[in-house]
Amino acid sequence: MKIIALESSCDESGVAVFDSKYGVVENLIHSQIDLHALYGGVVPDLASREHLRKIPALIEKSREFFDGADLVAVTSGPGLPNCLAMGIAGAEGLALALNLPLAGVNHLRGHAYSPFIGVHSKDPENFGSNFEKLLPHLGLAVSGGNTVLFEISRDKKILPLADTLDDAAGEALDKGAKLLGIPYPGAPVIERLSKIGNPKKINFPCGKNRKIDEDPDFSFSGLKTSLRYYLEKNPHGEKDLPDICASYQFAVVEQLKLRAEHFAKKKKYSSIGLSGGVSNNSLCAETFEKIAKKSGAEFLVPDKQYRGDNAAMIAFAAYVSPESTRPSKDGTATLDPSWEIA
Ligand code: AMP
Ligand code: MG
Repeated sequence: MKIIALESSCDESGVAVFDSKYGVVENLIHSQIDLHALYGGVVPDLASREHLRKIPALIEKSREFFDGADLVAVTSGPGLPNCLAMGIAGAEGLALALNLPLAGVNHLRGHAYSPFIGVHSKDPENFGSNFEKLLPHLGLAVSGGNTVLFEISRDKKILPLADTLDDAAGEALDKGAKLLGIPYPGAPVIERLSKIGNPKKINFPCGKNRKIDEDPDFSFSGLKTSLRYYLEKNPHGEKDLPDICASYQFAVVEQLKLRAEHFAKKKKYSSIGLSGGVSNNSLCAETFEKIAKKSGAEFLVPDKQYRGDNAAMIAFAAYVSPESTRPSKDGTATLDPSWEIA
């Protein structure tokens, strides 16, 4: 099966082609980071205009891989509405031109299955049985827009365990960086400065006083506020930045860890995975690898190119979970299939 996919939920335009015989054969991503950095965050109108400019160019560049395709898949939500519309319009045109069915794919499903892209590419022929051996799976999709802990059960259903009540973890890192005067997106700079800082220097809240059984969801807005208060009360210079960053990063990752550990202790998982842009963070990845090791589960993290938003994960989700994508007969893909239940 060959699937062409488009992604445009936020500030990355993506076009990819996945072939179940070989794996991902094309994965083009145009990041708009430089454009939005000028404004300190994603500007929705500029983002949608940039998708409109870039998606046709990416389609043109990847069209040599389209021969023999069976399906066009597109991110149908959640995301910035005008950005989603650009990808959906592009996919509708493409499906019409190639006379192919069109399917809407939930963006979170893309992230949820992305750690398994590598499992597929190692042994495409036996992917089905290798995938089954890695279930049940405990996953954290953690990005600039989402922070969701979920399970993929033995019968391949996705069951959400915890979601964020306010900011996503990547957003908390980027907003914290902004308070520190670090340009957008500041999360990778926080990571870099943290390497020479002391994570125990400042005690930022990490939600350890909340009873996870009764209150499993994440919350990062209090952490951001506590950083603001800290900066107002404590005179600080450039030399203090590494300690502040390390302590702030520690609090974000600690909250992710406490919740993942809680669920990993409650049930035996065959694999534990991390996905989304924040899975680039080495403290986060090392922490989750340790949780997996301790629970005797295999640790899965996508290759770097599949961590942030990309279209390959959308094509892959359409392949792994076809029942959750909804091919449309009339050429409209403005569907947002639930990501929770396959
Ligand atoms: P996504 O929404 O999946 O495209 O991921 C983007 C988010 O990942 C943004 O909030 C980035 O700041 C964040 N991110 C990227 N690299 C890192 C990193 N090294 N550490 C923490 N967060 C990161
Ligand atoms: Mg994303």
